[in-house]
Amino acid sequence: MILPIVAYGDPVLKKVGVDIDKDYPDLKALLDNMFETMYNASGVGLAAPQIGLAIRLFIVDTTPFSDDEDLTDEEQKALNGFKRVFINATILKEEGDEWAFNEGCLSIPDVREDVFRKPKVTIEYLDENFELHTEVFDGLIARVIQHEYDHIEGVLFTDKLSSLKKRLIKGRLGNISKGKINVDYRMRFPDQKKKR
Ligand SMILES: [Zn+2]
Repeated sequence: MILPIVAYGDPVLKKVGVDIDKDYPDLKALLDNMFETMYNASGVGLAAPQIGLAIRLFIVDTTPFSDDEDLTDEEQKALNGFKRVFINATILKEEGDEWAFNEGCLSIPDVREDVFRKPKVTIEYLDENFELHTEVFDGLIARVIQHEYDHIEGVLFTDKLSSLKKRLIKGRLGNISKGKINVDYRMRFPDQKKKR
């Protein structure tokens, strides 16, 4: 089932997510729905707050990045089929010199800006079977994980922009909250006037 994606301005996007346990109701169905929702919107990641749940859960599938011709064969191979579920994740370490990447977000359609992040991340998480992993990721995989991880910490990529950039996109963000935007996937807008 495709779920509506919560738009910029909804308070759930600012909440720090809580841990879940094995007994979380209908987790399997929730994960299926989240993947379906993400693929439908052509996303490479989706976090639970984006579908209205303030829990520490996000999913990633970087396959759409794998045909980028600017990448090495090795990088393309790593991105192709990198599909993961991250539950109760904690970033243990971020390393290296910050690099810029033009990020977007399914909750903030049509807004793309360069965001600076460190290239290498060590993360501890549970997978969909509640098996514990500690792994190191780099490059675009790390980038997507860092973006989604921010969501479960109540942080959006627009929070990381300079105050000038924030001012420049303020009007567009307000329009997104009001639903004044063309988007080809299902969304829920916090400030949309109710239709009669
Ligand atoms: Zn996002």
